Amino acid sequence: MNNTKRPSWDEYFLKLAMLASERSTCPRMHCGCVLVKERFVLATGYNGSIPGQPHCEDVGCLIVDNHCSRTNHAEINALVQAARHGINVTGCTAYITNMSCTTCAKALIASGITRVVVFSDYHDTLAVDFYTKCGVEIVKLEIPERTIHYDYEQYTSAIKTEKSK
Ligand SMILES: [Zn+2]
Ligand SMILES: [Zn+2]
Repeated sequence: MNNTKRPSWDEYFLKLAMLASERSTCPRMHCGCVLVKERFVLATGYNGSIPGQPHCEDVGCLIVDNHCSRTNHAEINALVQAARHGINVTGCTAYITNMSCTTCAKALIASGITRVVVFSDYHDTLAVDFYTKCGVEIVKLEIPERTIHYDYEQYTSAIKTEKSK
């Protein structure tokens, strides 16, 4: 098997965040977030309506002050998932597809996230400023390749061994 495309840990978890973002239901922004501690995924989130509310992609966004107010952002939803499962996220790295908005940055900082890995900028916020001032390390990766490699021929689980034939 050719392992030249084996991703680093940071690339791997950021790709998981990209995968999570595909579940987003607000057409204004597709974002994903994965919270990781000691190389274990503790929680994931994506931009979506709060439970009990319709999806923006079905009924349109609920715009207030130029923001969609029906959705929780990916970072908040990842923190919510952790909260619902009683998971301590202190010391986690947050892998996010897009640089946080100010509100999400504050929530991640207050939750004890110590590192943020991201490949996209979102300049119009105080997120970078807050992260920096609060001692959260920011790592920017080049955008990963746009495809997730799933070459069936190379996928070892799909390779039939003599025994399984
Ligand atoms: Zn929306
Ligand atoms: Zn946000």
